[in-house]
Amino acid sequence: MQFENTLSFAKSLDLKDELSDYRSQFHFPKVNNKPVVYFTGNSLGLQPKRTKKFVDEIMADWGDLAVEGHFHASKPWWDYHERLAEPLSHIVGAKKEEVCVMNTLTVNLHLLMVSFYRPTSKRFKILCEEKAFPSDQYMLQSQVRHHGFEPSEALVEVAKRDGEHYWRTEDILAKIEEIGDKLALVLIGGVNYYNGQVFDMQTITRAGKAVGANVGWDLAHAAGNIELELHEWEVDFAAWCSYKYMNSGPGNASGIFVHERHLKNDKLQRFEGWWGTKKDTRFLMKPEFESTHTADSWQLSNPPVLSLAPYLASLEMFDEVGMEKLIKKQKLIVAYLEFVLREIDKETEGSFEIITPADRGCQLSVFLHGQGRKLFDYLMENGVITDWREPNVIRLAPAPFYCSFEDMYRFGQILKSGIER
Ligand SMILES: *Cc1c(COP(=O)(O)O)cnc(C)c1O
Repeated sequence: MQFENTLSFAKSLDLKDELSDYRSQFHFPKVNNKPVVYFTGNSLGLQPKRTKKFVDEIMADWGDLAVEGHFHASKPWWDYHERLAEPLSHIVGAKKEEVCVMNTLTVNLHLLMVSFYRPTSKRFKILCEEKAFPSDQYMLQSQVRHHGFEPSEALVEVAKRDGEHYWRTEDILAKIEEIGDKLALVLIGGVNYYNGQVFDMQTITRAGKAVGANVGWDLAHAAGNIELELHEWEVDFAAWCSYKYMNSGPGNASGIFVHERHLKNDKLQRFEGWWGTKKDTRFLMKPEFESTHTADSWQLSNPPVLSLAPYLASLEMFDEVGMEKLIKKQKLIVAYLEFVLREIDKETEGSFEIITPADRGCQLSVFLHGQGRKLFDYLMENGVITDWREPNVIRLAPAPFYCSFEDMYRFGQILKSGIER
């Protein structure tokens, strides 16, 4: 398609957009009394209007039924989490029993490492990407130390090449080969939070498994954003948060994936609690743990229903639309955003550079030459919500659920006037 950087062209794309009805189903913040151009769905997704109804339902049941709500609420609380597994399994390419929602992301990665990072004196190394998301770095360092190793010895980071902004799959594969039988775990962010790169999860998973390591993925920026086939790819485990592309509210619950082949392995180490036991005998309060042989067995506590409610509301929307349509619009809107950026860049004589590689999802990361922080502030004051990463990068994620093509055009005009000032 031949794009044009004009309002009428942007509007014509909106007219053809199958998802355009969804925009009005979200609450938009306003600046100068106008809905913002929201580029931070990769950080905190907008609130769907239907979410309140899901939360109100629980508040009402709690008020009316109190403890009886566990079994008699409109959606009983004791197995409320089970409602999320099916729609979520479609999003991450899993079987229903491989998926569970519990805790928050970093907590879940720790719990999954209890099962999948079992270092020995010979096989103890972890491979990750250089400059992983800080929480992941702290998690990996503390896990390694917990097992009596030094991070400097056990953590191997794959770097980008000098002068390049992205990781090369071949470099990751070479590192996996090199570490070989010392490699216990590969754990990488499936979509990098900084440059928006999508890693070749299938190839890397296969390579890690070939040398006998476990392979897990932090899918914080991937879930609800790109196509995932965790079961097919034979990923050992994964976890993600629900507040970025999944629109479930600040700090909300996390999803986990554990591959089917591990679910019936009762020798696998795991931290356990009462919500991991079989549901039909749970309230017999027996002393021994009986696994459900599903991902639910990683659950410890009874589920935080008030935080699962917004996640369920969001999953209902994802299920209505399906990842295929979302990804189709995402590819078009990101391509249009890139086009608009390149047009503005020509008009303003090379003021910035896109550092996101071709393997990408919803996000374009833009390195600003010169003006940097001032330009970022100008965008924010003019109703473009983006975020700032040191040293000079703004990240733009036009979430396909609620961003319009007209937003991309409007953004381009504001960017241009910001640069020209
Ligand atoms: C957002 C994000 C997190 C956040 O972790 P929480 O435990 O939810 O605070 C972790 N890892 C990555 C890669 C992220 O992008």
